[in-house]
Amino acid sequence: MTSQPPAPTSNGFLPDEAATEQIGALIAPHLRGGEVLTLSGDLGAGKTTLVRGLLRALGHQGAVKSPTYTLVESYRLPAFELHHFDLYRLAEAGELEFLGLDEFLHPGAVCLFEWPERGAGVLPPGLSISLAREGSGRRLQVSANGPLAQELVKKLDLSMKSIDYLKV
Ligand code: ADP
Ligand code: MG
Repeated sequence: MTSQPPAPTSNGFLPDEAATEQIGALIAPHLRGGEVLTLSGDLGAGKTTLVRGLLRALGHQGAVKSPTYTLVESYRLPAFELHHFDLYRLAEAGELEFLGLDEFLHPGAVCLFEWPERGAGVLPPGLSISLAREGSGRRLQVSANGPLAQELVKKLDLSMKSIDYLKV
């Protein structure tokens, strides 16, 4: 029997909203297009906050709206397109195929999914980010599925090591 090597993971404590935005900003320079990122956590955990930090770091200057009602908000950035999904209101994962998910997933696009559990079995593997309330801040956990995300988590781990508050 062969055992799977453990998935690379990273974690840290985010004391405030600015720290959550900063994680988004740390991820941003490692994206090239083609990456899939999932964001898990309860309502108010900070998923959209992290996406806002990521988009700002990529040069987006306008508002970052939560796609709760629209399902997806798309951004045309200088290097790639970015599609920010919120699957909270999805009735079943199969709806995603019906909505043309495959047309969003391509090498020129980065796709971010809030509430990925609603798309279980349909979403491709990627970088999994989870946020959970801890005291007045948030606990961050990042793990990778698939080779592209594994590279990403290694680079991210190095950037995270330079930030003191994350080591708690
Ligand atoms: P979600 O998209 O997960 O529902 P939002 O990002 O819309 O959550 O909202 C998260 C809320 O939590 C915002 O009010 C934000 O200011 C706050 N928040 C984000 N990150 C942190 C943090 N690390 N510590 C404390 N509050 C945070
Ligand atoms: Mg949200």
